[in-house]
Amino acid sequence: MTTQVIAGKYVLGMRGGEQAVLQDHYVYVDGTKIEAVTRDAPAAGTPVVRYEHGFVMPGFVNLHAHCIRGGLFRGIPDDLEMEPWLPKLVYNVLLPLTAVAAKELTADELRAVTALGMIDLLKGGSTTVLDMWHHGQDVFFDVAREIGLRTVGAPFIMSSSNARLGPDGHPVWDFGNDGMAQLAKSIALFKARDQGRDGLAQVAIGPHATDTCLPELLRECRRTADDLDCVLTTHFAQTPQELALLRERYGMGAAEYARDTGLLGERVVLAHAGCASDDELKVLAATGTHVANCAVSFARQGGNFPYARFADAGVSTGIGTDSHGMDIIGELRVTGLLSKLFFGKAHVATAHQLMRAGTLAGANALGRPDLGRLQAGAKADLLVFDLFKPHLQPVWDPVKNLVWKGHAGDIVYTMVHGEPVVQDGRLLKIDEGAIMRKTALAARKIWNFAAERKILPPPPLVQ
Ligand SMILES: [Zn+2]
Repeated sequence: MTTQVIAGKYVLGMRGGEQAVLQDHYVYVDGTKIEAVTRDAPAAGTPVVRYEHGFVMPGFVNLHAHCIRGGLFRGIPDDLEMEPWLPKLVYNVLLPLTAVAAKELTADELRAVTALGMIDLLKGGSTTVLDMWHHGQDVFFDVAREIGLRTVGAPFIMSSSNARLGPDGHPVWDFGNDGMAQLAKSIALFKARDQGRDGLAQVAIGPHATDTCLPELLRECRRTADDLDCVLTTHFAQTPQELALLRERYGMGAAEYARDTGLLGERVVLAHAGCASDDELKVLAATGTHVANCAVSFARQGGNFPYARFADAGVSTGIGTDSHGMDIIGELRVTGLLSKLFFGKAHVATAHQLMRAGTLAGANALGRPDLGRLQAGAKADLLVFDLFKPHLQPVWDPVKNLVWKGHAGDIVYTMVHGEPVVQDGRLLKIDEGAIMRKTALAARKIWNFAAERKILPPPPLVQ
């Protein structure tokens, strides 16, 4: 039975298995699912949400994020002068800061920090997110349910929970191997929290990276993911230093190592993979391994991991925001521009390709043919953008207008799992002002602790 109808000027629907812009169509919702996408006007008395200049499209599937870090570290990694950038950022700043946060934040503060990241994601256009965080932050699922965000949570598993960089620039571990214990926690979490496709929450197995997990731990993670029939996700081929370590320690290239440790296949989502060679991309493509491209996160350190390089190699490539900024439209635009710059051509990474990457490819990577598309039987996860804005009119092609000229602030309505969660730009299920105030205090506390321990300089604010 129809519970809601969404009406706009354009609908990004499906025709013959492909995304297509449909004019003057209605999206009929029945409970948590889409009942139909049709020209047939609803009968009198049916509840209709109508936006005269609305562009109705599937919610974005964000394939790699760290929402808890988003608010806590806002502005900190940007413009930092450090060499080598990513290893030092991860091991000397992000992981120690996260450890401080895990110890020092109260449950209520952690809830607020998590909620801020999720509000940012949701208002940024993501209705589903594959998010990596730390064990002990299971409040993630409670907050997601409260806000109404669909999540796949993958707590980090590392060979030691206390990794840092050694003098040779490679990660070292200060004490014994507790990776298997962390994996056991992930299994327990899966049993307690995974709701399958019918619910809002799923759990994935998330070994942190190839340079923080020993090979036997990675193999065990893969066996576990196969047993649980869930997604396995990890950071992969992020830096030349990581590749050098694999070569030095195991005598293997990145793809070879991935094959050896079970990091290839259709249930695997590799975050980044930007340092993989062209031949290695062919291996990812041939094995159906998925890549989460987070172009903005790497551009800020002067690196270019162009989406089109992966897509052209035939790799199933979705889009993630990492913990940089959660506006998916902004992410698509920069992703596209970086690809155009890399190849020196205008016609690579088109708006329509990027739109598919952010929706269909992301859903496919999660093994969810019921997400990332507006068609009968799919989950009712959708966005409405108001195109009646000076920067979006007139409309030649709504997808091009949106990707090249729009931003997340143009979203007027968001539905997840058949429930409205944002209307007229306002979050419906939680008081975002209270969350921002609480997170600001929590972040200040962590920054002060970090400054005392010389992880960070004091904030550059004049008292
Ligand atoms: Zn990441």
